[in-house]
Amino acid sequence: MSLSALSPITTPLLPNISIPPLLGASLEELTAWVVQQGQPAYRGKQLHSFIYQQGVRSLCDISVFSKQWRGSLANIPIGRSTIHHRSVAPDDTVKYLLQLDDGEIIEAVGIPTFPRDGARERWGNREIRKVDNEKSLDRLTVCVSTQVGCPMACDFCATGKGGYKRNLTRSEIVDQVLTVQEDFQQRVSNVVFMGMGEPLLNTANVLSAVKSLNKDVGIGQRSLTVSTVGIRDRIRELAEHQLQVTLAVSLHAPNQTLREKLIPSARSYPLEDLLTECREYVEITGRRVSFEYVLLAGVNDLPEHALELSQRLRGFQSHVNLIPYNPISEVDYKRPNSDRINAFFNILKQQQTAVSVRYSRGLEADAACGQLRRS
Ligand code: SAH
Repeated sequence: MSLSALSPITTPLLPNISIPPLLGASLEELTAWVVQQGQPAYRGKQLHSFIYQQGVRSLCDISVFSKQWRGSLANIPIGRSTIHHRSVAPDDTVKYLLQLDDGEIIEAVGIPTFPRDGARERWGNREIRKVDNEKSLDRLTVCVSTQVGCPMACDFCATGKGGYKRNLTRSEIVDQVLTVQEDFQQRVSNVVFMGMGEPLLNTANVLSAVKSLNKDVGIGQRSLTVSTVGIRDRIRELAEHQLQVTLAVSLHAPNQTLREKLIPSARSYPLEDLLTECREYVEITGRRVSFEYVLLAGVNDLPEHALELSQRLRGFQSHVNLIPYNPISEVDYKRPNSDRINAFFNILKQQQTAVSVRYSRGLEADAACGQLRRS
């Protein structure tokens, strides 16, 4: 018998239909599913539109379906969460606690680039000067979680302090974006995978969610950013999918000794190996990598750290994003004052390292980077 006779039979025309929950499924998957239910194929398109455009929460509410069929759909889950709690920070960032089917709670954050309605006046000209065209006024970024909790236990991050429970499914990731979109009544323009969890420990579901956010929800791949602390071989795996998403890597230190003090997983995945994989990412995808660097006063914000960082990144097609530390209760790190932040920034600039400072939004609602937690 030839080897090919032993290989599994694949049916390229029939997509994998291990759904429901339905959210996150493509038009092809939904069409295959309705056909499996004995319905005509065009119902797939209707279902797709009701799920992604109308945000339907129960299949019984899809008015274009026959009464008889609807009756049999009552228990088919779409995969929508419920808003357990919602808090609005003074900068109009909204933090959501979302309850999942099994009762677990995760956080998602909605970050409008320009505060809405009355808040526009409060922000006044300060914000208007920062935006350069009409389109950017309407930006709405969603920060999504990829796991319930996080196993990485980075020393300065609140999420890791609460431990790890489980991966999120693709439905649970896509749901966060739809939930924020509906609550703001505004189209989501950008998604950052920077909420609770380590995306590259949940690569399959993150990749399916990326695909769905792009194809079904309609967000451009370049407006999606996946942030990782670095998991061996996973950055290369991501690169091989040839996506146009932005890769952000949490670096936080210019050398191995300091990095492993802040990030326990760095012990088994040294900085040099991580940077090698990042270089391969740039080669394979042609996209630059963004390096995140949380500034902790007196720990990693000294001039010599800035110099060492720029030397290490010399010739690397990358961008450094400095994030002044957002305080959490368990540890006594401090945010550097603005002089120190500027000094660090200026050294990188002088050394020709592309750099920007990202002041996290939502600080007052504990919704900023590193402040999300399960309880
Ligand atoms: N696990 C992923 C994504 C989640 S965290 C990662 O590590 O990249 C998103 C970003 O917020 C990371 O760069 C993370 O290091 C940073 N962060 C964590 N705690 C923070 C804190 N207290 N203040 C500022 N940024 C923090």
